[in-house]
Amino acid sequence: MNKKNLYYNEKIETMDRGDLDSLIDEKVKYTIKYAYENSKFYKKWFDKNNIEINFIKTHEDLRELPLISGSTIKKNQPPSTNAFNFKSADNKSIVSIHETSGTTGTPKSFFLTNNDWDKYIEKYGRAFKSQGFKSNDYLIMCASYGMNIGAESMSLAAKKLNITTIPEGKCTFPIRILKNYKPTSIVGSIFKFLRLANRMKENKLEPKDSSIKRLVAGGESFSDESRKYIEEIWGVDVYNTYGSTEGTMCGECSEKNGIHVPEDLIHLDIYNNNVEADPNMRLENLSEDSNFNCSESCFLEDGEKGKIILTTLLSKGDKAGTLLINYDTDDSSSVITRDKCDCGRTHMKINNPTRDAETVNIFDNEINRVDIEAGVFQRENMEYLTGEYESFLYGDNTQNTLRISVECKNLSNLDQEIIENNFIESILRKNDDLKEKYYNNEFEIIFNFLEKGKLEFYKVKGRPKRLIDRR
Ligand SMILES: [Zn+2]
Repeated sequence: MNKKNLYYNEKIETMDRGDLDSLIDEKVKYTIKYAYENSKFYKKWFDKNNIEINFIKTHEDLRELPLISGSTIKKNQPPSTNAFNFKSADNKSIVSIHETSGTTGTPKSFFLTNNDWDKYIEKYGRAFKSQGFKSNDYLIMCASYGMNIGAESMSLAAKKLNITTIPEGKCTFPIRILKNYKPTSIVGSIFKFLRLANRMKENKLEPKDSSIKRLVAGGESFSDESRKYIEEIWGVDVYNTYGSTEGTMCGECSEKNGIHVPEDLIHLDIYNNNVEADPNMRLENLSEDSNFNCSESCFLEDGEKGKIILTTLLSKGDKAGTLLINYDTDDSSSVITRDKCDCGRTHMKINNPTRDAETVNIFDNEINRVDIEAGVFQRENMEYLTGEYESFLYGDNTQNTLRISVECKNLSNLDQEIIENNFIESILRKNDDLKEKYYNNEFEIIFNFLEKGKLEFYKVKGRPKRLIDRR
């Protein structure tokens, strides 16, 4: 096979660690200079904090700078301010405007230049290549088009690779699309693939007998167990992508043991979860400030899980519409490795990120929605369950109850004990403290077995909330 065909940008994707780090540092310098010269927010921020931009020379120097968050962006755009202080290019260079709602509802504005689009396309292009896409692939895009950039940038990346896209925008398309066009791939999410598979079966098309060769899941995190189950019912690989309007866009390669971060385009640090984003913090106060008086413990070693902090990287001459430095993504992950992958790529790999907004604390034990999902999708359970679930947490300082509702294939043919035991074993397995609380009756898990269509989230519009804290 022509080796060139395996990569989107072979030279960069397979660059030695030393060269890659030098390239990143070169880009850090230009990025900081660009931020100072083009962004109202950063100009003020560097000046106010007496940061001499020439002193920021390497990616390690970024760790000396405070963090910003989604709320920093919101506080620097209308209606809070007259201007969009994060906008970092002139109007004639901006080619599109986007909004992301984040978790709190108020949209954050993002301005994109052609350069930005090129980079978004390149990031997804690399991911598709690493997942074995070829120009003869047919791809159904089930991600929604709109103010988010995901679906559009993936479609443009596919176009660039001569992949044929079918831009459905959601996963409720008629089954004839699969029968008539014989697509090879679908971009969607775990639950979209689950529901589509059910619809196909109702229409006498076994997912395994369809033309689909691979599935690409994005938009939300998922458990290994749910991925395995989807792979089983479809008989194909499911690849992971991690993307956001802020400009992450990391793709899992065919090795399926971590998501490659395009390190020359975005810089990613893993910070301790207790570090708060505070752009107003003055650097000279750092030693007095508890948040940043933690030069060792602020930053986590590879393998440790913490906040994903993101910095856009620009090449000389690039224009960025919205530039982010040390941006708290509200997602958490850990670095798996910075060594060369068996796919030939040298860019680091991270674990499947989880949303901080989907994490609850039960007696100081972090439980994420994905942990609940892992318990539901225990293989034996799937003989009885559809996979759809929701969970609610009740309680106070002394007692907590997790109520988990699962949708059953058939209520009259159900082994509740098997499901309960598998779930409890899965959720307590990695957590001795929670296990102790469970056996002391301080932490209780109760089950609610429902027939199809009876989960509460079906009554609510939008993406299902599967872990709801009612304490
Ligand atoms: Zn790889």
